[in-house]
Amino acid sequence: MITGIQVYNTLTRRKEIFEPVNTPHVGMYVCGPTVYNDVHLGNCRTFISFDIIFRYLRYAGYKVRYVRNITDAGHLEGDRDEGDDKFAKRAKLEQLEPMEIVQKYTLGFREVMRLFNTLPPSIEPTATGHIIEQIEMIKVILGNGFAYEVNGTVYFDVEKYSETYNYTILTNRNLEDMLANTRELGGQDEKRGRLDFALWIKAKPETLMKWASPWGLGFPGWHIECSAMSAKYLGDTFDIHGGGMDLAATHHTNEIAQSEACSRQQPAKYWMHTNMLTVNGARMSKSAGNGFLPHELFSGKHPLLKKGYSPMTVKFFMLQAHYRSTLDFSNEALEASEKGYRRLMNALSLLQKIQASGTTDFDIAALRERCVVAMNDDFNTPVVIAELFEAARIINTLYDGKGKIDAGNLDGLKQLMQDFVVDVFGLQEEAQGDNGFKEVLDMVINLRREAKENKDYATSDKIRIGLQEMGIQLKDSKEGTTWSRT
Ligand code: AMP
Ligand code: ZN
Repeated sequence: MITGIQVYNTLTRRKEIFEPVNTPHVGMYVCGPTVYNDVHLGNCRTFISFDIIFRYLRYAGYKVRYVRNITDAGHLEGDRDEGDDKFAKRAKLEQLEPMEIVQKYTLGFREVMRLFNTLPPSIEPTATGHIIEQIEMIKVILGNGFAYEVNGTVYFDVEKYSETYNYTILTNRNLEDMLANTRELGGQDEKRGRLDFALWIKAKPETLMKWASPWGLGFPGWHIECSAMSAKYLGDTFDIHGGGMDLAATHHTNEIAQSEACSRQQPAKYWMHTNMLTVNGARMSKSAGNGFLPHELFSGKHPLLKKGYSPMTVKFFMLQAHYRSTLDFSNEALEASEKGYRRLMNALSLLQKIQASGTTDFDIAALRERCVVAMNDDFNTPVVIAELFEAARIINTLYDGKGKIDAGNLDGLKQLMQDFVVDVFGLQEEAQGDNGFKEVLDMVINLRREAKENKDYATSDKIRIGLQEMGIQLKDSKEGTTWSRT
């Protein structure tokens, strides 16, 4: 087993040696997508980051139970338990049942995760599948005196909780400041305290998704599903809880409060948060209108994109930044990633053709050690990428016959590439899609142009007729040659 993994813990604001509650078992919970619309590339960054962490912990020898939920109920538009239900609103817009919306976007999410070659989590529980567990948890919180019911809605009592526990433990904010910065309760507000939040919300007559509860027909609040499902599948105290940084201040803060108010224990030992994917420095989000959908990125059909980039190129782009750093989207960075990804894939295929000799010029064990040290340092993927480029340089040198490697080191090199490129990073050779096709076609069109310039009409005609037989029509104009499918 690989030991000495250091994890940056948001809870303590420092790197700590990772010591699971029950080695070699690791319980990891990551807040999954809210499936009322398509995931954008920012969401994907968070899920890809945790996939790499999941993969590395498995590689290190841990038995990981990775739970990533699907939020399919309980999300109101406002962040203070107000506004329309996002699922119902979308269902009306698309003229579908709310559960059809859930099914559509869950399948879409899984397909995107498959294209990025991420592993499925061990359990993918849904909020609607765990209404009973949420109701049970709310009953315990009420019984412990940390919640109150008003007219069919149950609120968490932050003030009462704060008498015993630290509500702002995760973000280290000052409670007084938070109170001062939170809107005052309005006349209609049923809440006792400004920071109180709903555990259970009374249904209105028009509410589409509602369930029976001891407090009448209603639906769960935004945060309770994660407390209920993490406790059910990982226990009252488990190892890692993760999500995007934007979740820490409200969702995760409230999750800790609920879990502690129920079990009297801190739910997770290590809280891990990924940083945001940004566009021109602004956080990528659908509401800001700068959220690329993965398929827009793959096809290049978006005004900010110069061309399409394949899933593996995009994943490589993400691996080149540490998960706690912001990552700014740009065409230039993606073009560089495309080249970097190809370099690694070419090295992987050349490696199969290299023969061992009696002596060696390279110390592969030291290279592997540097990769392990980097991953142990809070999953420092950009440093590992730099080491893998070094491996690619060695492979090219060997392939060109400019160096020697013995059988042991050659096996070590093969194992290193398999472990880090394939198993830990989940990078794989991908079929050249439409992009590759266009590039080849451009090259053929250029060859024809050169033939014409050299007055070699026999060749230029051969190319034109050959393409026509394949269903590709060329059209010459003053601006150059364009093509279309016949
Ligand atoms: P949601 O579907 O909105 O609940 O978000 C799913 C996950 O994506 C959460 O963990 C968010 O924190 C994360 N997320 C949202 N926007 C971004 C972004 N721009 N960059 C990285 N992660 C994000
Ligand atoms: Zn959550």
